[in-house]
Amino acid sequence: MTTYTADIAIIGAGPGGLSAAVALSRAGLSVTVVEKTLTTERSFRGESLSPDAVALLDALGVLDDITQSGALVTRKLEISEAGNLLMSADFADFDYPQPYPREVPQPTLLNALEKAAAESDGFRMLRGANVHDLIVTDGRVHGLTFADADGEHEVRAALVVGADGRYSKTVALSKLDYERIQLDRDVVWMRTPLPEQWDTETYRIRMRGADHGLFIPTYPDMVRVGFNIPKGSLGELRKSGIATLHQRISDLAPELSDLVREHVTRFTDTSTLDIFTSRMPRWSRPGLVFIGDAAHTLSPVLGQGVNHALIDGVVLAELVSTAFGATGGREARLDAAVLEFQGVREPDVAASRGLQLRQEWLFSIGHPVGVAARSSLYRVLNLVKPLRLQILSNAYFRLQRQRGDLATGSLAR
Ligand SMILES: Cc1cc2nc3c(=O)[nH]c(=O)nc-3n(C[C@H](O)[C@H](O)[C@H](O)COP(=O)(O)OP(=O)(O)OC[C@H]3O[C@@H](n4cnc5c(N)ncnc54)[C@H](O)[C@@H]3O)c2cc1C
Repeated sequence: MTTYTADIAIIGAGPGGLSAAVALSRAGLSVTVVEKTLTTERSFRGESLSPDAVALLDALGVLDDITQSGALVTRKLEISEAGNLLMSADFADFDYPQPYPREVPQPTLLNALEKAAAESDGFRMLRGANVHDLIVTDGRVHGLTFADADGEHEVRAALVVGADGRYSKTVALSKLDYERIQLDRDVVWMRTPLPEQWDTETYRIRMRGADHGLFIPTYPDMVRVGFNIPKGSLGELRKSGIATLHQRISDLAPELSDLVREHVTRFTDTSTLDIFTSRMPRWSRPGLVFIGDAAHTLSPVLGQGVNHALIDGVVLAELVSTAFGATGGREARLDAAVLEFQGVREPDVAASRGLQLRQEWLFSIGHPVGVAARSSLYRVLNLVKPLRLQILSNAYFRLQRQRGDLATGSLAR
């Protein structure tokens, strides 16, 4: 058994764990990241980066690397009902340093962050390492144990960061209160080539009664389709056959009719996401703190999950490195820092969750009267530009509104 030691142990090398690793190791702390997968390859995972996430990556100095590896810029958002355009938004209307969302394959994002972290001497990555327990003494977490191909090992650290995502084992181990709130639907994800009628710069939301789909250009020349189905109804859809799925996608997006038939030939070409949000009254206990999806899983609406995971990582690093830098009573200072972290981040996460829940509710409307009211609402938003900008600004620009210090490379040292 090997015992590793570090100032900070991070469980999970997703966007949250790696942004924390970059910022903490640049602050001079020794950081060990423990990740169960061997590579960064993933599919159907957060590829839409909100403008705030783009601004943060620019401040961390990794945006150029990501752009060079390949990403798409989103300039427009369109919402339609039964083929009629109800609302369109142009991100050029926002006067922020980074006004545009981007579509970035998650391996590109993770590789760029890992490369940036690896420039600091104190960074260590342990891959193929599955965390299965916490080391707890007198109520305080002092590290973790994991298994890899060579057997059992441990990491001892002053602070363990749980960044292991929406099905976090660390949350279960922590014994902290946790509530999962199931939403009314699941999403079936699939990919096809981008139809020739569509550009790569427009994010489309298409509704038809209670059916809705997200149609998201995906680097380099594909489209990701997120098709909603009532919660738990995948079995029913499978039973009715792949042709039913083809037809329902074609009803929403006739442009994809042939492509979906050609490229999604069986249900194994799709991936189903169980949609839920989660709440933890406390994101920490002595020696342990949660960030990203582990602390607050969000729904996929408006691409908020990666955004909040990245911001969590950087904000936590700022508070924790300050606590490390002061003299005396380190444990008490760390405990105060992780509590402050939740105080700083929770209002923004709650605002996103509220916005998503309202949007999810609108999507789930199926009755014709409700559908007509929903269409009127989007038409009003389309006509009243200040209102439209305010709502989108709350979704996409909270960080850039709050922090004028996020210039290119400002967090790169
Ligand atoms: C299908 C799908 C589509 C999505 N689309 C979007 C989108 O377009 N935009 C967006 O912003 N968000 C999207 N999300 C959400 C987004 O992916 C997450 O919010 C984001 O990845 C959260 O980052 P994280 O670092 O908190 O967790 P994760 O990205 O989930 O990373 C957790 C890491 O922990 C590792 N891990 C788990 N358990 C252990 C263990 N026991 N030991 C060691 N390592 C462990 C995992 O392997 C993983 O690498 C989507 C999610 C899904 C599932």
